[in-house]
Amino acid sequence: MAGNWKMYKTPAETTAFFEKFRPMVEKSSHCEIVICPSFTNLAAAVEAVKDSKIRIGVQNIAWAKEGAFTGEISGPMIQAVGATEALVGHSERRQYFAETDETVLQRTQAALEFGLAPIVCVGERLEERESGKTKDVLVAQFEKGIAGLTAQQFAKIVIAYEPVWAIGTGKTATPEIAADAHRTIRGQVHATYGKDAAEAVRILYGGSVKPDNAKTLMAQPEIDGMLVGGASLDPVGFASIVNF
Ligand code: PEP
Repeated sequence: MAGNWKMYKTPAETTAFFEKFRPMVEKSSHCEIVICPSFTNLAAAVEAVKDSKIRIGVQNIAWAKEGAFTGEISGPMIQAVGATEALVGHSERRQYFAETDETVLQRTQAALEFGLAPIVCVGERLEERESGKTKDVLVAQFEKGIAGLTAQQFAKIVIAYEPVWAIGTGKTATPEIAADAHRTIRGQVHATYGKDAAEAVRILYGGSVKPDNAKTLMAQPEIDGMLVGGASLDPVGFASIVNF
């Protein structure tokens, strides 16, 4: 269960969130929990989850170790502050910051090189779904953004299916739509990395997940977890999603 805080919260708000959230998920042994705050909140978040099962991730990672890349944050910097996971290729990065499948692959490789677990996001836009291109888009994103990983690298990633039309819009994919997309992605994994990898890979669903729809979505055997944006900002709401 992963939370993407997008560009919200200060360090003080981060600390306050975890004071409420921690006790509500302390007994949840059925899942792993990751929260991805902004870079400026990482230190506060890492401190706040000490000695708990909650892990902290970033929302973006540079493809280089260091260098003249103004505004970017690298794997060693992220590792030094104590985060352990990295979202890569979120649709907001693709839409507003020119992220491409090629840079998604580079950033994923960088995360792996520096010991961070990547959560790689894929998903179609509304016009792509409406023109019947969902499958083609997912296949292309997989082929260009993921299939360049070695089998060893692939074993360490989590994939998040996030239909762009469902992100922040209140329009959740139906469990059937989500499961169908997950099957397409798992099929690609099977074709590229084989049966065992296809069975083992975890595919999260993201897009307007809320406390009241988490249970129905998680009832789909194809859906292994959730990537939650807006609803992860509220400790009570996110705890109830985690404990669906
Ligand atoms: C996200 O940011 O990854 C996301 C799925 O957002 P939301 O849950 O707000 O739709």
